[in-house]
Amino acid sequence: MKILVAVKRVVDYNVKVRVKADNSGVETANVKMAMNPFCEIAVEEAVRLKEAGKAREIIAVSMGPASCAETLRTALALGADRAIHVETDAELQPLAVAKLLRSIAAAEQPGLVILGKQAIDGDNGQVGQMFAALMGWPQGTNAYKLEVGGEELTVIREIDGGLETLRLRLPAVITTDLRLNEPRFASLPNIMKAKKKELAVKKPDELGVDIAPRVATLKVEAPAGRSAGIKVGSVAELVDKLKNEAKVIQ
Ligand code: AMP
Repeated sequence: MKILVAVKRVVDYNVKVRVKADNSGVETANVKMAMNPFCEIAVEEAVRLKEAGKAREIIAVSMGPASCAETLRTALALGADRAIHVETDAELQPLAVAKLLRSIAAAEQPGLVILGKQAIDGDNGQVGQMFAALMGWPQGTNAYKLEVGGEELTVIREIDGGLETLRLRLPAVITTDLRLNEPRFASLPNIMKAKKKELAVKKPDELGVDIAPRVATLKVEAPAGRSAGIKVGSVAELVDKLKNEAKVIQ
């Protein structure tokens, strides 16, 4: 079985993001970028399935500007066998990413496609679901545990108040939750080996996908700063303020 893993390059999770001066988005120039943490978990899960003899080949895919090649090299160093970069400087919305993935899946015929449950930049949480719908494939979102057996896949999902177990027929789509696994670090020899692995570059046009945005971003704003607190003199004053100023109690 082939596994396709979608990896997105995002602002590193340790970076404090800043909104651009014109409120058109988040500043990404001269900011440390890294693989989206949920995508690292997706790569790790694919590698574990291959190590367990359940998968034959892992293909990492990323869509975006030239710098995505670096993120794909990381995926190769972590254990992916080859990579596909759909190169574009244009804004990519979730539907466009899902359609590009559909085109790649049609050519590669994977048995399993693993994505992150969300990219930590846009927090959309949409690509996996859209891709599964476009393919007409079953989906196990926010996976907490995964088991592949023959033509089937068992997925355990953490839901409010418990765990939900699903059985899916392959080919299927999985999106990863935080607790699915703990990703490994790439070793130096594997980073060196990754430089020699195949990294194919394609353009959206070649894949026959119209990536024009369907949604317009009107404005991006930083959250309002916290105003200074005050000290109250007594419990009675506190209760009075909660009742009459904050109006959070009656
Ligand atoms: P989102 O729906 O944007 O929150 O993204 C969910 C998941 O879709 C990510 O964790 C990735 O696995 C995948 N994804 C989203 N955008 C891209 C991209 N530009 N390139 C590769 N994978 C992506």
